[in-house]
Order: sequence, then C-alpha cells, then structure tokens
Amino acid sequence: MGAFDMKLPWRETEAGKQWLRAYKNRWKKENRKKNLEKARAYGRKRYHDRDKAIYRTIRETVLNHYGGQCACCGESVYEFLAMDHIFGGGNKHRKARKKDTLAMWLYENGYPEGFQVLCHNCNMAKGFYGRCPHGSTISKLFKSAMAIDK
Ligand SMILES: [Zn+2]
Ligand SMILES: [Zn+2]
Repeated sequence: MGAFDMKLPWRETEAGKQWLRAYKNRWKKENRKKNLEKARAYGRKRYHDRDKAIYRTIRETVLNHYGGQCACCGESVYEFLAMDHIFGGGNKHRKARKKDTLAMWLYENGYPEGFQVLCHNCNMAKGFYGRCPHGSTISKLFKSAMAIDK
C-alpha cells in the first residue's frame, strides 16, 4: 500500500464503519427534515396562492356588484378600490366579522345595502375628515343629523 493509495484504513475498522453508518444516518435524517420543510413551505405557498386567487375573484365580484367604481370620484382601477360602509360603523362591524374581510362578508351575506365602493383616496379622506374633498361622500354632520352610527 503506497502513500497515495486511496484506500482509507479507518473505513476498515469496526469503529470507522460505525462512525460512517452513524454519519450517513444523521445525514439522511437531516435531509429528510429539510425536504419535509421544503415540501411544507411549498404546500403553504400553494395554499396561500389559491386563497389569494379565490379572494381576488370574490373581491372583484363584490366590487362589481356595488358598481365597480369609486362612488365619489369614479376611479375604476381594481387595485385602488375598497368596500366602504356608507354610514360608517366599520370598526364595530369589523369586530363582529372577526377575521373575515368585508368583501367576503358581503359576498356571504348576499350583498346587503348600506355599502359602497370607494377608492382608497376617497376612503381615507372620508375617514380622516368626515368627507372627501371631492365633496360627494357623506359627511359626519350628515351622519349625526341622521343619528346614525352612535
Ligand atoms: Zn375616489
Ligand atoms: Zn373623493
């Protein structure tokens, strides 16, 4: 046996074999764990993507049902739009719905009245100032006059 012989003497000993076996087993186990995690992550992502697709379809359906454009400024780009409670009460309502989204809730409850489509700009303005600078959403004054949302 020369100095450059590739035969590794430790592999021939009982301790060496045991070590090698243990090493292989550990490697297999870790790999299995890694693969499992990868598979799980993949499954989660697929689930998430499918959920997102369903949610988007429902959202589009609901937005279209309520006119498909901002009730205030006429914005019709889907990404800018959201459902809005005409008379407010969003927080109270949100609590009752728990983690469902408003669009989902409207869909499941047969499109009840009292909701409108607003773009995020008009919605924010309405939330902050009680009315949108465009001038066509319901103001807080109107709400208190009607004694709604108390
Ligand atoms: Zn708008
Ligand atoms: Zn507006």
